[in-house]
Amino acid sequence: MLMGLMQHQPLLVSSILRHAARHHGAGEVVSRRDDATIERTTYAALERRARRLARALLALGVVPGERVGTLAMNSDRHLELYYAIMGIGAVCNTINPRLAQDDIAYIADHAEDGILFADPGFAAIVAAVAPKLASTLRHVVIMGDAASLPDIPLPAGIRLHDYETLLAAADEDYAWPNFDENAACGLCYTSGTTGRPKGVLFSHRATVLHAMVTAMGDATAMRATNRVLPVVPMFHVNAWGLPFAAPMAGAALVLPGRHLDPDSLIALLNGERVTNAAGVPTVWLGVLAKLRERGGRLATLQRVMSGGSAFPRSLMAEYARLGVTVSHAWGMTETSPIVTWNSPKPSTLALDSEARLDEQARQGRVVFGVDVRAENETGEAPWDGRTQGNFVVRGHWVASGYYRMPETAIGDDDWFPTGDVGVITPEGFVTLTDRTKDLIKSGGEWISSIAIENIAVAHPDVAEAAAIAIPDPKWGERPLLIVVPRQGRTPEPEAIRAFYHDKVPRWSVPDRVVVVESLPHGATGKILKTELRRIYAR
Ligand code: ADP
Repeated sequence: MLMGLMQHQPLLVSSILRHAARHHGAGEVVSRRDDATIERTTYAALERRARRLARALLALGVVPGERVGTLAMNSDRHLELYYAIMGIGAVCNTINPRLAQDDIAYIADHAEDGILFADPGFAAIVAAVAPKLASTLRHVVIMGDAASLPDIPLPAGIRLHDYETLLAAADEDYAWPNFDENAACGLCYTSGTTGRPKGVLFSHRATVLHAMVTAMGDATAMRATNRVLPVVPMFHVNAWGLPFAAPMAGAALVLPGRHLDPDSLIALLNGERVTNAAGVPTVWLGVLAKLRERGGRLATLQRVMSGGSAFPRSLMAEYARLGVTVSHAWGMTETSPIVTWNSPKPSTLALDSEARLDEQARQGRVVFGVDVRAENETGEAPWDGRTQGNFVVRGHWVASGYYRMPETAIGDDDWFPTGDVGVITPEGFVTLTDRTKDLIKSGGEWISSIAIENIAVAHPDVAEAAAIAIPDPKWGERPLLIVVPRQGRTPEPEAIRAFYHDKVPRWSVPDRVVVVESLPHGATGKILKTELRRIYAR
Protein backbone atom coordinates (compact mmCIF):
# COMPACT_ATOMS: atom_id res chain seq x y z
CA MET A 1 0.00 0.00 0.00
CA LEU A 2 1.37 3.43 -0.92
CA MET A 3 0.09 5.92 1.62
CA GLY A 4 -1.21 9.29 0.43
CA LEU A 5 0.81 12.36 1.21
CA MET A 6 -1.93 14.41 2.81
CA GLN A 7 -2.13 16.09 6.20
CA HIS A 8 -4.18 14.27 8.77
CA GLN A 9 -6.35 16.29 11.08
CA PRO A 10 -8.95 14.65 13.31
CA LEU A 11 -12.58 15.41 12.41
CA LEU A 12 -13.48 17.30 15.59
CA VAL A 13 -16.63 19.29 16.31
CA SER A 14 -14.51 22.25 17.51
CA SER A 15 -13.20 22.65 13.96
CA ILE A 16 -16.71 23.62 12.83
CA LEU A 17 -17.06 26.53 15.24
CA ARG A 18 -13.45 27.59 14.62
CA HIS A 19 -14.20 27.76 10.91
CA ALA A 20 -17.47 29.67 11.47
CA ALA A 21 -15.77 32.20 13.76
CA ARG A 22 -12.88 32.78 11.36
CA HIS A 23 -14.67 32.73 8.01
CA HIS A 24 -18.26 33.65 8.94
CA GLY A 25 -17.47 35.74 12.02
CA ALA A 26 -20.42 38.07 11.40
CA GLY A 27 -22.82 35.13 10.82
CA GLU A 28 -25.77 35.64 13.12
CA VAL A 29 -27.11 33.52 15.97
CA VAL A 30 -30.50 34.83 17.07
CA SER A 31 -32.17 33.57 20.27
CA ARG A 32 -35.58 34.11 21.71
CA ARG A 33 -35.40 34.39 25.50
CA ASP A 34 -38.04 33.15 27.96
CA ASP A 35 -39.46 36.69 28.23
CA ALA A 36 -39.80 36.70 24.40
CA THR A 37 -37.07 39.30 23.84
CA ILE A 38 -34.63 38.67 21.00
CA GLU A 39 -30.90 38.37 21.65
CA ARG A 40 -28.37 38.57 18.82
CA THR A 41 -24.82 37.37 18.67
CA THR A 42 -22.35 36.25 16.00
CA TYR A 43 -20.31 33.12 15.40
CA ALA A 44 -17.15 35.08 16.31
CA ALA A 45 -18.58 36.21 19.66
CA LEU A 46 -20.12 32.82 20.35
CA GLU A 47 -16.81 31.05 19.79
CA ARG A 48 -15.10 33.39 22.28
CA ARG A 49 -17.78 32.63 24.88
CA ALA A 50 -17.49 28.90 24.15
CA ARG A 51 -13.77 29.17 24.94
CA ARG A 52 -14.58 30.89 28.24
CA LEU A 53 -17.11 28.20 28.99
CA ALA A 54 -14.51 25.53 28.21
CA ARG A 55 -12.27 27.10 30.85
CA ALA A 56 -15.20 27.27 33.28
CA LEU A 57 -15.94 23.56 32.76
CA LEU A 58 -12.30 22.66 33.36
CA ALA A 59 -12.32 24.79 36.51
CA LEU A 60 -15.34 22.80 37.74
CA GLY A 61 -13.24 19.67 37.30
CA VAL A 62 -14.73 18.24 34.09
CA VAL A 63 -12.38 15.69 32.56
CA PRO A 64 -12.30 14.26 29.00
CA GLY A 65 -15.00 11.65 28.48
CA GLU A 66 -17.08 12.92 31.38
CA ARG A 67 -20.79 13.42 30.71
CA VAL A 68 -22.30 16.87 31.21
CA GLY A 69 -26.10 17.03 31.14
CA THR A 70 -28.25 19.75 29.58
CA LEU A 71 -31.96 20.38 30.14
CA ALA A 72 -32.47 23.24 27.76
CA MET A 73 -34.40 24.59 24.79
CA ASN A 74 -32.72 25.91 21.62
CA SER A 75 -30.65 28.99 22.44
CA ASP A 76 -27.22 30.56 21.94
CA ARG A 77 -26.28 29.36 25.43
CA HIS A 78 -27.19 25.77 24.58
CA LEU A 79 -25.11 26.14 21.40
CA GLU A 80 -22.13 27.46 23.40
CA LEU A 81 -22.52 24.49 25.71
CA TYR A 82 -22.53 22.02 22.83
CA TYR A 83 -19.25 23.38 21.53
CA ALA A 84 -17.56 23.95 24.90
CA ILE A 85 -18.41 20.50 26.29
CA MET A 86 -17.53 18.66 23.08
CA GLY A 87 -14.55 20.93 22.40
CA ILE A 88 -12.74 19.95 25.60
CA GLY A 89 -13.40 16.26 24.91
CA ALA A 90 -16.30 15.85 27.34
CA VAL A 91 -19.72 14.50 26.33
CA CYS A 92 -22.86 16.60 26.00
CA ASN A 93 -25.78 14.58 27.34
CA THR A 94 -28.85 16.43 26.06
CA ILE A 95 -31.90 15.44 28.10
CA ASN A 96 -35.46 15.94 26.90
CA PRO A 97 -37.21 18.06 29.58
CA ARG A 98 -40.62 16.87 28.35
CA LEU A 99 -39.94 13.34 29.54
CA ALA A 100 -41.41 12.07 32.79
CA GLN A 101 -39.24 13.12 35.76
CA ASP A 102 -38.58 9.49 36.48
CA ASP A 103 -37.05 9.06 32.99
CA ILE A 104 -35.04 12.28 33.33
CA ALA A 105 -33.57 11.02 36.61
CA TYR A 106 -32.93 7.62 35.03
CA ILE A 107 -31.03 9.19 32.11
CA ALA A 108 -28.87 11.56 34.20
CA ASP A 109 -28.10 8.69 36.57
CA HIS A 110 -27.36 6.16 33.84
CA ALA A 111 -25.13 8.71 32.05
CA GLU A 112 -23.52 9.61 35.41
CA ASP A 113 -23.68 13.32 34.62
CA GLY A 114 -21.28 15.21 36.90
CA ILE A 115 -22.74 18.60 36.00
CA LEU A 116 -26.24 19.52 34.92
CA PHE A 117 -26.98 22.75 32.99
CA ALA A 118 -30.64 23.79 32.92
CA ASP A 119 -32.78 26.65 31.64
CA PRO A 120 -34.31 28.69 34.50
CA GLY A 121 -37.73 27.38 33.42
CA PHE A 122 -36.65 23.84 34.30
CA ALA A 123 -35.61 24.65 37.90
CA ALA A 124 -38.52 22.61 39.28
CA ILE A 125 -37.39 19.53 37.32
CA VAL A 126 -33.85 19.96 38.66
CA ALA A 127 -35.13 20.25 42.24
CA ALA A 128 -37.15 17.06 41.79
CA VAL A 129 -34.44 14.91 40.20
CA ALA A 130 -31.29 16.15 42.00
CA PRO A 131 -31.88 14.07 45.17
CA LYS A 132 -31.83 10.93 42.99
CA LEU A 133 -28.47 11.92 41.48
CA ALA A 134 -26.56 12.70 44.64
CA SER A 135 -23.93 10.00 44.01
CA THR A 136 -22.55 11.55 40.81
CA LEU A 137 -23.92 15.09 40.42
CA ARG A 138 -21.58 17.82 41.77
CA HIS A 139 -22.80 21.04 40.16
CA VAL A 140 -26.05 22.49 38.82
CA VAL A 141 -25.73 25.51 36.54
CA ILE A 142 -28.83 27.56 35.73
CA MET A 143 -28.55 29.08 32.27
CA GLY A 144 -29.19 32.72 33.10
CA ASP A 145 -27.58 35.51 35.13
CA ALA A 146 -27.19 36.01 38.88
CA ALA A 147 -30.30 38.19 39.08
CA SER A 148 -32.52 35.45 37.68
CA LEU A 149 -31.02 32.56 39.67
CA PRO A 150 -33.90 30.69 41.32
CA ASP A 151 -33.48 29.31 44.80
CA ILE A 152 -33.31 25.55 44.19
CA PRO A 153 -33.09 23.23 47.19
CA LEU A 154 -30.23 20.81 46.43
CA PRO A 155 -28.80 17.92 48.44
CA ALA A 156 -25.55 18.61 50.30
CA GLY A 157 -22.56 18.23 48.01
CA ILE A 158 -24.27 19.65 44.91
CA ARG A 159 -23.40 23.30 44.26
CA LEU A 160 -25.67 25.77 42.48
CA HIS A 161 -24.26 28.31 39.99
CA ASP A 162 -25.53 30.80 37.48
CA TYR A 163 -24.19 30.56 33.97
CA GLU A 164 -23.19 34.17 33.36
CA THR A 165 -21.22 34.47 36.62
CA LEU A 166 -19.33 31.28 35.79
CA LEU A 167 -18.54 32.62 32.35
CA ALA A 168 -17.49 36.06 33.58
CA ALA A 169 -15.00 34.49 35.98
CA ALA A 170 -13.31 32.44 33.24
CA ASP A 171 -10.55 33.42 30.84
CA GLU A 172 -11.18 33.25 27.10
CA ASP A 173 -7.58 32.44 26.37
CA TYR A 174 -8.07 28.80 25.42
CA ALA A 175 -6.98 26.75 22.41
CA TRP A 176 -9.24 23.89 21.31
CA PRO A 177 -7.25 20.70 21.78
CA ASN A 178 -6.75 17.92 19.24
CA PHE A 179 -7.65 14.37 20.18
CA ASP A 180 -8.93 11.16 18.60
CA GLU A 181 -11.83 11.82 16.22
CA ASN A 182 -13.50 8.63 17.44
CA ALA A 183 -13.91 10.12 20.93
CA ALA A 184 -17.49 10.55 22.11
CA CYS A 185 -19.01 14.04 21.89
CA GLY A 186 -22.74 13.62 22.51
CA LEU A 187 -25.11 11.29 24.32
CA CYS A 188 -28.81 11.29 23.48
CA TYR A 189 -31.28 8.81 24.90
CA THR A 190 -34.10 7.54 22.69
CA SER A 191 -37.42 8.70 23.99
CA GLY A 192 -38.28 5.24 25.23
CA THR A 193 -41.77 4.84 23.79
CA THR A 194 -41.16 1.21 24.71
CA GLY A 195 -39.04 0.33 27.74
CA ARG A 196 -36.37 2.48 29.36
CA PRO A 197 -34.54 5.15 27.34
CA LYS A 198 -31.37 3.86 25.66
CA GLY A 199 -28.25 5.99 25.19
CA VAL A 200 -26.86 6.69 21.72
CA LEU A 201 -23.25 7.86 22.03
CA PHE A 202 -22.21 10.01 19.06
CA SER A 203 -18.56 10.43 18.10
CA HIS A 204 -16.83 13.57 16.75
CA ARG A 205 -16.08 11.81 13.48
CA ALA A 206 -19.69 10.67 12.94
CA THR A 207 -21.04 14.09 13.88
CA VAL A 208 -18.73 16.00 11.52
CA LEU A 209 -19.32 13.61 8.61
CA HIS A 210 -23.09 13.73 9.18
CA ALA A 211 -22.97 17.55 9.14
CA MET A 212 -20.90 17.63 5.93
CA VAL A 213 -23.20 15.29 4.09
CA THR A 214 -26.48 16.76 5.32
CA ALA A 215 -25.26 20.21 4.23
CA MET A 216 -25.01 19.01 0.62
CA GLY A 217 -27.22 20.32 -2.18
CA ASP A 218 -29.66 17.41 -2.22
CA ALA A 219 -30.16 17.56 1.53
CA THR A 220 -30.35 20.82 3.52
CA ALA A 221 -28.45 22.70 0.77
CA MET A 222 -26.90 24.81 3.51
CA ARG A 223 -25.51 28.17 2.36
CA ALA A 224 -24.02 31.21 4.07
CA THR A 225 -27.04 33.24 2.90
CA ASN A 226 -29.57 30.88 4.55
CA ARG A 227 -31.30 31.72 7.80
CA VAL A 228 -32.16 28.46 9.53
CA LEU A 229 -34.72 27.91 12.27
CA PRO A 230 -34.53 24.51 13.99
CA VAL A 231 -37.89 24.03 15.70
CA VAL A 232 -36.66 20.50 16.35
CA PRO A 233 -35.11 20.73 19.81
CA MET A 234 -31.39 20.56 20.47
CA PHE A 235 -32.22 17.81 22.97
CA HIS A 236 -33.64 15.66 20.18
CA VAL A 237 -30.81 14.05 18.18
CA ASN A 238 -28.78 17.29 18.20
CA ALA A 239 -31.61 19.13 16.41
CA TRP A 240 -30.99 16.80 13.45
CA GLY A 241 -27.40 18.08 13.20
CA LEU A 242 -28.34 21.65 12.24
CA PRO A 243 -26.22 23.22 15.03
CA PHE A 244 -23.26 21.70 13.17
CA ALA A 245 -24.33 21.99 9.52
CA ALA A 246 -25.36 25.68 9.78
CA PRO A 247 -22.08 27.08 11.20
CA MET A 248 -20.15 24.80 8.86
CA ALA A 249 -21.71 26.72 5.97
CA GLY A 250 -21.90 30.07 7.77
CA ALA A 251 -25.72 30.06 7.70
CA ALA A 252 -27.49 32.09 10.39
CA LEU A 253 -29.22 30.16 13.17
CA VAL A 254 -32.51 31.41 14.60
CA LEU A 255 -33.26 29.68 17.91
CA PRO A 256 -36.83 29.85 19.22
CA GLY A 257 -36.31 29.00 22.91
CA ARG A 258 -39.54 27.83 24.49
CA HIS A 259 -41.81 29.84 22.17
CA LEU A 260 -42.98 27.00 19.96
CA ASP A 261 -46.68 27.80 19.55
CA PRO A 262 -47.79 28.54 15.97
CA ASP A 263 -48.27 32.31 16.50
CA SER A 264 -44.77 32.73 17.98
CA LEU A 265 -43.24 30.59 15.24
CA ILE A 266 -44.94 32.50 12.42
CA ALA A 267 -43.80 35.80 13.97
CA LEU A 268 -40.22 34.54 14.29
CA LEU A 269 -40.15 33.03 10.78
CA ASN A 270 -41.26 36.32 9.25
CA GLY A 271 -39.55 38.70 11.68
CA GLU A 272 -36.16 37.02 11.30
CA ARG A 273 -36.47 36.42 7.52
CA VAL A 274 -36.02 32.67 7.98
CA THR A 275 -35.38 30.77 4.73
CA ASN A 276 -35.19 27.19 6.07
CA ALA A 277 -36.94 25.64 9.05
CA ALA A 278 -36.98 22.15 10.50
CA GLY A 279 -39.48 20.34 12.71
CA VAL A 280 -41.80 17.38 13.10
CA PRO A 281 -45.07 17.33 11.09
CA THR A 282 -47.16 18.30 14.15
CA VAL A 283 -45.41 21.68 14.19
CA TRP A 284 -46.19 22.37 10.53
CA LEU A 285 -49.75 21.16 10.99
CA GLY A 286 -50.18 23.75 13.76
CA VAL A 287 -48.61 26.56 11.71
CA LEU A 288 -50.84 25.76 8.74
CA ALA A 289 -53.99 25.59 10.89
CA LYS A 290 -53.14 29.06 12.21
CA LEU A 291 -52.60 30.47 8.72
CA ARG A 292 -55.89 28.91 7.54
CA GLU A 293 -57.66 30.45 10.52
CA ARG A 294 -56.37 33.98 10.40
CA GLY A 295 -54.73 34.35 6.99
CA GLY A 296 -51.21 35.70 6.62
CA ARG A 297 -48.22 34.24 4.87
CA LEU A 298 -44.70 33.00 5.31
CA ALA A 299 -42.88 35.81 3.58
CA THR A 300 -39.33 34.46 3.31
CA LEU A 301 -39.59 30.77 4.12
CA GLN A 302 -38.47 28.63 1.19
CA ARG A 303 -38.05 25.18 2.66
CA VAL A 304 -39.34 23.13 5.54
CA MET A 305 -37.41 20.04 6.54
CA SER A 306 -39.57 17.47 8.26
CA GLY A 307 -39.08 14.05 9.80
CA GLY A 308 -39.82 12.11 12.97
CA SER A 309 -43.15 10.92 11.61
CA ALA A 310 -44.71 10.84 8.16
CA PHE A 311 -45.47 14.19 6.52
CA PRO A 312 -48.86 13.87 4.79
CA ARG A 313 -48.96 14.52 1.03
CA SER A 314 -52.01 16.80 1.34
CA LEU A 315 -50.12 19.03 3.76
CA MET A 316 -47.19 19.20 1.33
CA ALA A 317 -49.58 20.41 -1.38
CA GLU A 318 -50.88 23.16 0.90
CA TYR A 319 -47.35 24.29 1.75
CA ALA A 320 -46.51 24.30 -1.96
CA ARG A 321 -49.40 26.74 -2.48
CA LEU A 322 -47.78 28.96 0.16
CA GLY A 323 -44.54 28.83 -1.85
CA VAL A 324 -42.81 26.52 0.63
CA THR A 325 -41.18 23.23 -0.44
CA VAL A 326 -41.34 20.44 2.12
CA SER A 327 -38.34 18.10 2.26
CA HIS A 328 -39.20 14.80 3.81
CA ALA A 329 -36.39 13.07 5.71
CA TRP A 330 -36.18 9.81 7.64
CA GLY A 331 -33.93 8.60 10.39
CA MET A 332 -33.74 7.96 14.10
CA THR A 333 -31.62 8.83 17.12
CA GLU A 334 -29.50 5.75 16.41
CA THR A 335 -28.66 7.14 12.95
CA SER A 336 -27.64 10.69 14.01
CA PRO A 337 -30.42 10.96 12.49
CA ILE A 338 -30.38 11.46 8.70
CA VAL A 339 -30.55 8.33 6.52
CA THR A 340 -32.79 9.47 3.68
CA TRP A 341 -33.68 12.87 2.30
CA ASN A 342 -36.24 13.53 -0.38
CA SER A 343 -34.82 15.49 -3.30
CA PRO A 344 -35.76 14.91 -6.93
CA LYS A 345 -33.84 12.83 -9.44
CA PRO A 346 -33.97 13.71 -13.15
CA SER A 347 -36.68 11.07 -13.64
CA THR A 348 -38.94 12.39 -10.85
CA LEU A 349 -38.45 16.00 -11.94
CA ALA A 350 -39.88 15.03 -15.32
CA LEU A 351 -43.19 13.85 -13.79
CA ASP A 352 -46.38 15.92 -13.79
CA SER A 353 -47.07 17.85 -10.60
CA GLU A 354 -49.42 15.27 -9.03
CA ALA A 355 -47.05 12.36 -9.62
CA ARG A 356 -44.15 14.49 -8.43
CA LEU A 357 -46.00 15.15 -5.18
CA ASP A 358 -46.49 11.38 -4.77
CA GLU A 359 -42.71 10.98 -5.01
CA GLN A 360 -42.08 13.93 -2.69
CA ALA A 361 -44.24 12.35 0.00
CA ARG A 362 -41.91 9.34 0.20
CA GLN A 363 -39.31 9.40 2.98
CA GLY A 364 -36.52 10.02 0.45
CA ARG A 365 -33.40 8.46 -0.93
CA VAL A 366 -30.25 7.46 0.88
CA VAL A 367 -27.56 10.12 1.37
CA PHE A 368 -23.91 9.19 0.87
CA GLY A 369 -22.32 7.67 3.97
CA VAL A 370 -25.13 5.36 5.06
CA ASP A 371 -27.11 2.59 3.39
CA VAL A 372 -30.49 0.89 3.76
CA ARG A 373 -31.93 -2.51 2.91
CA ALA A 374 -35.49 -3.76 3.22
CA GLU A 375 -35.25 -7.33 4.46
CA ASN A 376 -37.85 -10.10 4.49
CA GLU A 377 -37.74 -13.88 5.00
CA THR A 378 -36.01 -14.39 1.65
CA GLY A 379 -33.27 -11.79 2.09
CA GLU A 380 -33.16 -8.29 0.60
CA ALA A 381 -36.57 -7.31 -0.80
CA PRO A 382 -36.48 -6.20 -4.46
CA TRP A 383 -36.63 -2.46 -5.21
CA ASP A 384 -40.03 -2.71 -6.87
CA GLY A 385 -41.95 -0.23 -4.73
CA ARG A 386 -44.25 -3.08 -3.63
CA THR A 387 -42.37 -5.76 -1.70
CA GLN A 388 -42.32 -4.83 1.95
CA GLY A 389 -39.38 -5.47 4.25
CA ASN A 390 -37.87 -4.48 7.59
CA PHE A 391 -35.45 -1.61 7.14
CA VAL A 392 -31.90 -2.17 8.34
CA VAL A 393 -29.17 0.47 8.09
CA ARG A 394 -25.43 0.89 8.43
CA GLY A 395 -22.89 3.62 7.86
CA HIS A 396 -20.55 6.23 9.28
CA TRP A 397 -23.12 7.68 11.68
CA VAL A 398 -25.11 4.59 12.68
CA ALA A 399 -24.87 3.40 16.31
CA SER A 400 -22.82 0.25 16.97
CA GLY A 401 -24.67 -0.39 20.25
CA TYR A 402 -26.18 1.52 23.17
CA TYR A 403 -24.21 3.22 25.93
CA ARG A 404 -23.35 0.90 28.83
CA MET A 405 -25.35 -1.97 27.27
CA PRO A 406 -22.57 -4.19 25.87
CA GLU A 407 -25.12 -6.87 25.00
CA THR A 408 -26.46 -4.56 22.24
CA ALA A 409 -23.13 -4.21 20.39
CA ILE A 410 -23.11 -4.88 16.65
CA GLY A 411 -20.14 -5.20 14.29
CA ASP A 412 -19.00 -2.50 11.86
CA ASP A 413 -20.30 -4.44 8.85
CA ASP A 414 -23.55 -5.48 10.50
CA TRP A 415 -26.91 -3.94 9.74
CA PHE A 416 -28.80 -2.10 12.47
CA PRO A 417 -32.52 -2.99 12.67
CA THR A 418 -34.58 0.22 12.65
CA GLY A 419 -37.94 -1.26 13.64
CA ASP A 420 -39.46 0.43 10.58
CA VAL A 421 -41.13 -1.35 7.68
CA GLY A 422 -41.58 -0.26 4.09
CA VAL A 423 -40.68 -0.51 0.43
CA ILE A 424 -37.98 0.86 -1.88
CA THR A 425 -38.84 2.02 -5.41
CA PRO A 426 -36.76 1.14 -8.49
CA GLU A 427 -35.30 4.68 -8.26
CA GLY A 428 -34.19 4.02 -4.66
CA PHE A 429 -36.84 6.10 -2.91
CA VAL A 430 -37.65 4.72 0.52
CA THR A 431 -41.29 4.66 1.65
CA LEU A 432 -42.22 3.85 5.21
CA THR A 433 -45.44 1.99 5.72
CA ASP A 434 -45.12 1.73 9.48
CA ARG A 435 -43.17 1.11 12.61
CA THR A 436 -43.23 -2.65 13.14
CA LYS A 437 -45.12 -2.22 16.37
CA ASP A 438 -47.80 -0.04 14.74
CA LEU A 439 -48.59 -2.29 11.77
CA ILE A 440 -52.17 -3.48 11.42
CA LYS A 441 -52.62 -7.06 10.23
CA SER A 442 -56.10 -7.84 9.03
CA GLY A 443 -57.03 -11.25 7.62
CA GLY A 444 -53.44 -11.92 6.53
CA GLU A 445 -53.05 -8.50 4.85
CA TRP A 446 -50.85 -5.72 6.20
CA ILE A 447 -52.52 -2.32 6.44
CA SER A 448 -50.25 0.72 6.59
CA SER A 449 -51.36 3.06 9.37
CA ILE A 450 -49.36 5.86 7.70
CA ALA A 451 -51.32 5.42 4.44
CA ILE A 452 -54.65 5.44 6.33
CA GLU A 453 -53.68 8.58 8.26
CA ASN A 454 -52.45 10.43 5.17
CA ILE A 455 -55.81 9.95 3.47
CA ALA A 456 -57.70 11.04 6.59
CA VAL A 457 -55.84 14.36 6.88
CA ALA A 458 -56.53 15.09 3.20
CA HIS A 459 -60.24 15.28 4.14
CA PRO A 460 -61.31 18.94 4.56
CA ASP A 461 -62.82 18.30 8.01
CA VAL A 462 -59.79 16.57 9.52
CA ALA A 463 -56.77 18.24 11.14
CA GLU A 464 -54.93 15.24 12.57
CA ALA A 465 -55.44 11.48 12.50
CA ALA A 466 -54.17 8.24 14.00
CA ALA A 467 -54.93 4.70 12.84
CA ILE A 468 -54.45 1.83 15.27
CA ALA A 469 -55.08 -1.91 15.30
CA ILE A 470 -58.11 -3.15 17.25
CA PRO A 471 -58.33 -6.87 18.08
CA ASP A 472 -60.99 -8.54 15.96
CA PRO A 473 -62.33 -12.09 16.43
CA LYS A 474 -62.72 -12.70 12.68
CA TRP A 475 -59.81 -10.80 11.08
CA GLY A 476 -57.27 -10.79 13.90
CA GLU A 477 -57.01 -7.01 13.79
CA ARG A 478 -59.00 -4.21 12.17
CA PRO A 479 -58.08 -0.54 11.76
CA LEU A 480 -59.68 2.10 13.96
CA LEU A 481 -59.32 5.72 12.89
CA ILE A 482 -59.21 8.50 15.46
CA VAL A 483 -59.49 12.04 14.08
CA VAL A 484 -59.22 15.60 15.38
CA PRO A 485 -61.52 18.11 13.58
CA ARG A 486 -60.21 21.15 11.79
CA GLN A 487 -61.17 24.46 13.38
CA GLY A 488 -64.93 25.01 12.99
CA ARG A 489 -65.59 21.66 11.25
CA THR A 490 -67.55 18.59 12.33
CA PRO A 491 -66.26 15.39 10.70
CA GLU A 492 -68.97 12.80 9.99
CA PRO A 493 -67.61 9.27 10.54
CA GLU A 494 -69.51 7.82 7.57
CA ALA A 495 -68.36 10.62 5.27
CA ILE A 496 -64.76 10.00 6.32
CA ARG A 497 -65.14 6.28 5.63
CA ALA A 498 -66.65 7.04 2.22
CA PHE A 499 -63.62 9.26 1.48
CA TYR A 500 -61.47 6.07 1.34
CA HIS A 501 -63.51 4.70 -1.57
CA ASP A 502 -61.21 4.20 -4.61
CA LYS A 503 -58.15 5.26 -2.59
CA VAL A 504 -57.36 1.94 -0.86
CA PRO A 505 -58.52 -1.69 -1.07
CA ARG A 506 -61.83 -2.23 0.73
CA TRP A 507 -60.28 -4.22 3.59
CA SER A 508 -58.04 -1.24 4.46
CA VAL A 509 -60.96 1.12 5.15
CA PRO A 510 -61.26 1.74 8.92
CA ASP A 511 -64.34 0.05 10.39
CA ARG A 512 -64.89 2.79 12.87
CA VAL A 513 -64.02 6.50 13.03
CA VAL A 514 -63.83 8.21 16.40
CA VAL A 515 -63.76 12.01 16.66
CA VAL A 516 -61.74 13.46 19.55
CA GLU A 517 -60.65 16.96 20.56
CA SER A 518 -56.94 16.15 20.63
CA LEU A 519 -54.49 13.28 20.32
CA PRO A 520 -51.82 12.42 22.90
CA HIS A 521 -48.27 13.31 21.78
CA GLY A 522 -45.01 11.94 23.20
CA ALA A 523 -41.95 13.90 24.25
CA THR A 524 -40.68 14.16 20.66
CA GLY A 525 -43.99 15.16 19.09
CA LYS A 526 -45.06 11.73 17.84
CA ILE A 527 -48.62 10.54 18.36
CA LEU A 528 -48.60 8.14 21.32
CA LYS A 529 -50.15 5.06 19.76
CA THR A 530 -49.38 2.99 22.86
CA GLU A 531 -51.69 5.34 24.77
CA LEU A 532 -54.40 5.14 22.07
CA ARG A 533 -54.22 1.35 22.02
CA ARG A 534 -54.55 1.32 25.79
CA ILE A 535 -57.76 3.37 25.54
CA TYR A 536 -59.39 1.88 22.43
CA ALA A 537 -57.94 -1.57 21.79
CA ARG A 538 -59.64 -3.40 24.61
P1 ADP B 1 -37.83 7.69 19.23
O1 ADP B 1 -36.98 7.90 20.41
O2 ADP B 1 -39.28 8.00 19.40
O3 ADP B 1 -37.58 6.41 18.49
P2 ADP B 1 -36.57 8.94 17.05
O4 ADP B 1 -36.53 10.35 16.65
O5 ADP B 1 -35.31 8.21 17.15
O6 ADP B 1 -37.35 8.90 18.36
O7 ADP B 1 -37.62 8.22 16.12
C1 ADP B 1 -37.25 7.49 15.01
C2 ADP B 1 -38.47 6.89 14.39
O8 ADP B 1 -39.36 7.89 13.94
C3 ADP B 1 -38.16 6.10 13.16
O9 ADP B 1 -37.70 4.81 13.48
C4 ADP B 1 -39.50 6.11 12.44
O10 ADP B 1 -40.37 5.13 12.96
C5 ADP B 1 -40.05 7.47 12.77
N1 ADP B 1 -39.78 8.39 11.66
C6 ADP B 1 -38.74 9.21 11.52
N2 ADP B 1 -38.81 9.92 10.37
C7 ADP B 1 -39.96 9.53 9.76
C8 ADP B 1 -40.62 9.88 8.53
N3 ADP B 1 -40.13 10.79 7.70
N4 ADP B 1 -41.78 9.25 8.24
C9 ADP B 1 -42.31 8.33 9.06
N5 ADP B 1 -41.74 7.97 10.23
C10 ADP B 1 -40.58 8.55 10.58
